[in-house]
Amino acid sequence: MIKLNKRPEPQILRDNRASWEQALRDHETNGTEPSKAELNRYGHKDIKSVLLAETNEKCAYCESIFRHVYPGDIEHVTPKRNGIQFRFAWENLTIACSTCNTCKGVKQGLVDPYDDDPEALFQHAGPAILPDPASNKATATEAALSLNRHALVERRTERLKALHRILKIALDQTDQNYREILLDELRVKEIRDDAEFAAMSRWYVKDLITKGVIAASAPPTNA
Ligand SMILES: [Zn+2]
Repeated sequence: MIKLNKRPEPQILRDNRASWEQALRDHETNGTEPSKAELNRYGHKDIKSVLLAETNEKCAYCESIFRHVYPGDIEHVTPKRNGIQFRFAWENLTIACSTCNTCKGVKQGLVDPYDDDPEALFQHAGPAILPDPASNKATATEAALSLNRHALVERRTERLKALHRILKIALDQTDQNYREILLDELRVKEIRDDAEFAAMSRWYVKDLITKGVIAASAPPTNA
């Protein structure tokens, strides 16, 4: 999990949130059932597109890239059943994969990638995510979202193997220039926010630097 930053609220939400909420309150008052369309207005394409940009098109919780097979669920950080005010609140919306979304259900008080600093709350040992033992919140989040579920660990292992292959090819290079270009794949590109499992990859690269296997950055050239 990585830190996410809220983007400006989409115009459609700014213009309509109050009336969308009011429509639901009116149903409550009148004892009538809201339609699916009225309940799911947070799913408007203009809202979702900003959320996808905000989450780097990954699950906000497990950092999986899934968009090639699945559109992704709009996730309510505080469950929407807690009240009408949470259903269309911009600060309460994000994107999650279907498994994290289902695992989370109506659980509350978990690590919030917008408000918390996830990279300070979780460590990585190979493909395993280890919550900071001093943090009940992180420990509960790992359990609730099943962040070490088999399918995720398997996919993170594949990701680590791919990073390790880049390292091997880079270290085998005799040409210094090519070697640094390949190492920058690891040091820069593969750990960017939009890379899958960026938090884990950062741990991997940081470990290589700490152990002196690679330098933190390319040496200055004389050119
Ligand atoms: Zn997920």
